[in-house]
Amino acid sequence: MAIPFDSNGIVSMKDYASEVQCTWCDGCGNYGIWTALRSALVEMKIQPWEILLCYDVGCHGNMADKIGGYRAHGLHGRVIPFAAGAKIANPKVPVIAVGGDGASFSEGVSHLVHAVRSNYPITFILHNNANFGLTTGQASALTPRGQKMNTSPNGIPERTLPSMDFIFSLEPTFVARAFSGNIPQLTEVLKKAVAHRGFAFVDVLQACPSYNHFATHEYLLEKCYDVATINHDAKDVAKARALAVDTSGKIATGILYQNEDVPSFYEELKPRQGRETTPAEEVRLYDVSEYMKAFI
Ligand code: SF4
Repeated sequence: MAIPFDSNGIVSMKDYASEVQCTWCDGCGNYGIWTALRSALVEMKIQPWEILLCYDVGCHGNMADKIGGYRAHGLHGRVIPFAAGAKIANPKVPVIAVGGDGASFSEGVSHLVHAVRSNYPITFILHNNANFGLTTGQASALTPRGQKMNTSPNGIPERTLPSMDFIFSLEPTFVARAFSGNIPQLTEVLKKAVAHRGFAFVDVLQACPSYNHFATHEYLLEKCYDVATINHDAKDVAKARALAVDTSGKIATGILYQNEDVPSFYEELKPRQGRETTPAEEVRLYDVSEYMKAFI
């Protein structure tokens, strides 16, 4: 689906600047994601007043006041419902939801499931540092089994949730993976995700030098490669799933899978079909002062 806005105006990184200084730890992957997100929006010529950025709770969520644009910051694990609701109210506005691996694959996992199966027309950026960074390094569902973390000094006893296999089991229409240290590639991935017709899942592997001492920036730099270098066919779901799941050697990044043939949730809503206006435009004011007198 084409982006509905075409400002034809000049947009620069300054338009997405904030006076609030970043407080992330030195070397945090959030800096790379923050930069790539702004670059993608600028390159797409999307003005800050033409985008909605929704943030979950977590270190990534501290980006909410360090970037321009309309922003909303919700409860832990709940970013997808309010992002999807905003999109349905005004489908002309591109909506990006941002969450961490801690919230998204634990208390927020049900929302993620229904976002994928419903094909909500939003982008979801997963800040994947394989731990709860904001609360000082507890294990998330994506922390490798056996890994020692702050609240599990003897190592994590549970199996690690196979996140990519899980996502593919839900029949997604867009799956990408990127590395926060490769800003040019992440920028391109985000541009394609925002332009996608339905739910775009973007797994961003990011360094957390304070609490993740097993998948460091250097480790990810060494392991990640771009599927564009192997002429990967992003329409082949079986190959995409195999590439996404197998991280035993190198880690495949880039657009792993995309299917533009599946209508989005909004397109499937029968009451919306054939309408030019959005629900937001159809809101009318009603005088309820007579009813309110009963409470005076
Ligand atoms: Fe980044 Fe980790 Fe520090 Fe949070 S704790 S700001 S994720 S390095």
